[in-house]
Formats: sequence, C-alpha cells, structure tokens
Amino acid sequence: MDKITMASPDIGAEEKSAVMRVLDSGSVAQGPEVAAFEEEFAEFIGVKHAVMFNSGTAAIHTALSSLEIGPGDKVITTPFTFIGTANPILMQGAEPVFVDIEAQSFNIDANLIGRAIDSDTKAIIPVDLYGQSCDYDAINEQVDGRASVVEDACQGIGGSYKNRKIGSLGRVAAFSLYATKNIMSGEGGVITTDDESIADHAKRFRQHGMSGPYEYSSIGYNYRSTDILAAIARVQLRRVDELNGRRAENAEVYNEELVDVPGIKTPTVNADTDHVYHQYTLRVDESSGLTRDNLIDKLRNNGVSTGIYYPKGLYSYEHMKRSADEAHNFPVTELATKQVLSLPVHPKVSKTDVRRIAGIIKEAAAHE
Ligand SMILES: *Cc1c(COP(=O)(O)O)cnc(C)c1O
Repeated sequence: MDKITMASPDIGAEEKSAVMRVLDSGSVAQGPEVAAFEEEFAEFIGVKHAVMFNSGTAAIHTALSSLEIGPGDKVITTPFTFIGTANPILMQGAEPVFVDIEAQSFNIDANLIGRAIDSDTKAIIPVDLYGQSCDYDAINEQVDGRASVVEDACQGIGGSYKNRKIGSLGRVAAFSLYATKNIMSGEGGVITTDDESIADHAKRFRQHGMSGPYEYSSIGYNYRSTDILAAIARVQLRRVDELNGRRAENAEVYNEELVDVPGIKTPTVNADTDHVYHQYTLRVDESSGLTRDNLIDKLRNNGVSTGIYYPKGLYSYEHMKRSADEAHNFPVTELATKQVLSLPVHPKVSKTDVRRIAGIIKEAAAHE
C-alpha cells in the first residue's frame, strides 16, 4: 500500500530541462529568468508589476516596508493562519491586531474589521486561506480607505473573486513558491501590485536597499531568488490551471463521498469565489462521537497523512506580544483549531486514492 502524503511537488521533464538550460547558461543568480518570470506572473494575475523573492515571508515583509509600516503602527490580520503572515509585522516593529474568523470560509470576518481599526492602523492583511479568496468587497467597505489592504495570497495562486484573480484584490499582494504550494520553486515568493512606487521599493528592498552602484537609499535585505528557481517557476506557472484543476477534481470527489457522513462537515465555497484547494479541510464535530485524533490514527494506520492547519491561534504565541488568555476573544478561531482536519488533495493524489481515503473516514464514522 502506497503512502499518501500531504504534499508532493509535481516536477516534470520540462522543469528539469529548464534547470539544465539555466545551469548551462552560467547565469545562475538573479538575472533574465527572474525578469521573465516576473513579467509572466504579472500578466497572469492581471497587474502591472510582479517582483520575485526568495520566500513568501520575504514578500510579505517587503510589502509592509513598501507601505512604510513601522514602530507605533498597527496591522490587522487573522489569527488563523501560518506564522509567516504575522512575523513580518513584528519585523517592521509594528503591532499585530488579530480579528476573529468567519465560520464558513475560515477567512477573516469582514464584519469585525471596522471596529478593530483605530488611528494607528496602517494596514490589514487578509489571508486567502486554503486557496479561497476573502470577501474583498466587504473588507473594503469596512476599511473605508483608512488602511492599505495587503493580500496574503500565499495559498491562493490561480484562485479568483468576482472574476478577478487573487493577488489583484488589494494594494499589494504576496505569494509563496514554497515546495508545498500550488505552484512552487522549492523556496520562493512574489509580490504583485499596480503601484509602480511599491514595485520600485520592492526591487531595492530585496537587494540591500540599493538604488544605484554603491548607492543605498534605505535599509535592505538579500531577498533575491535565482534564475535556477525562476526557470522552475516559469514552467509551473504555465501548468497552474492544470495543477489546480486536479486539486478541484479531487475536492469534488471528497465532497460527493463525504457529504452525508455524520460528524463530518465538508468545506463551503462562497459564491463569487473560485477555490483552488491549497488545502481540502473538513470540520470534525466530536459531539457525533467521532474524534479527530481517532480519525487521524485510522488514516495514519492506512498510510494516509493528514494535517491540522492550524492547531493554535497566533495570539497564543508569546513573541506575538498578545497574551494567551485572550483566547476567549476568538471563539470561532478556537473552535476551528479543535475541529479542522486537512486531507491530501494535491495533484499526485488520484481519484482512486480519494475514494479510498473517504472510505476509511466513512468506516470510522459508522463505528461511532
Ligand atoms: C506559505 C505561507 C507563507 C509563507 O511563505 P514562505 O514561502 O514559506 O515564507 C505565508 N502565509 C501563508 C498563509 C502561507 O501559507
């Protein structure tokens, strides 16, 4: 019986030959492949500018820097996300302010944003969690021009909201090309924006703050990617709809198989959004008698990996400078951390695998 993992990059002959072509060219650091990828990525998202980085976290950090966020400023975000969403807020010396999520989509609850904004709030980072866009019309209505919207689009490449691509919905957006993401280059990141001054700042910030030969206009980092990785990313970008399509088909089979299983709630897809299933995430309602731990064990005993994204709200981490006893302020996040369970949905999982996994879950539920 083959083991089924939670992620496995789909690397084909084209990716391999692209890497060999770059190695043979001798240009292996940031160069023409990065520039070509940026142009193709901007066109795909439907924005004027894309800038490539060596991680999604570097991209988010750069986005915040480009908005001149610093000490004394507040940045609103969701506590139900990867730590890489919020660490850049602290890297800029600003204060994270967490707003609870909405139960259906697991995304930040737009209705709670308005009252969380004060005169120190400079930005909000909504996360398009699991590959489903937030409700940007509702978010913009609540923000009402009082803060910049920075999309954390790391899980949402290829997804859309009202026929506009994820990554074109805020003032600036950040993507990740980490190995487990829907398209990948091992490590990597991208920001997208229509704002030329943000793109210019981003290019300086990723290169030591350099504005000309031995001219440094501000602090910067070495956040560059490489032509080797950009060559992989260019091939993956050409395949994005194919790869996302296989995720969506797998999700569809899970939905059909699991829709009526007691104790299991399949994911909700909001009207207006095109979900790209970075994760396929169930809720396990333990009042049915079926426990999440039990389900995880049964699947593991059958060679199937699962994931809990995420087991804790970000307010629980001491370095976030929030106190853990704040948990009662985030009831929807707290319940989600106890109920969510993500199943393998990536393109290398076959429909036969999906049916087998669903069968194990149905059997577990029937024995409660
Ligand atoms: C992956 C991810 C990041 C960080 O990306 P890295 O490339 O790993 O630095 C940030 N936010 C979210 C929501 C992510 O899924």
